[in-house]
Amino acid sequence: MLRSTMRCLLLERLEALIMSFRVCIACHGIRVYPYVGFMTGQRYQCQDCLEIMVIPLEFEKEEDYRAFVGAMAEDDEE
Ligand SMILES: [Zn+2]
Repeated sequence: MLRSTMRCLLLERLEALIMSFRVCIACHGIRVYPYVGFMTGQRYQCQDCLEIMVIPLEFEKEEDYRAFVGAMAEDDEE
């Protein structure tokens, strides 16, 4: 009983680590990777629009990201 609870907690924590992903602030794509430039320090670059950002958006769950993208799409239609 106790052991299965422990395993469940570990899985949840692992899933949170894997599911956390970065989102481009310009095009909202999820292919954002660390980018290291001379003198400028740590940056992130979007592989879709090549935007370089200091702090990308970050979501822990895919459903949070989907909700965000859905809200942005609604804004575009107005
Ligand atoms: Zn982008």
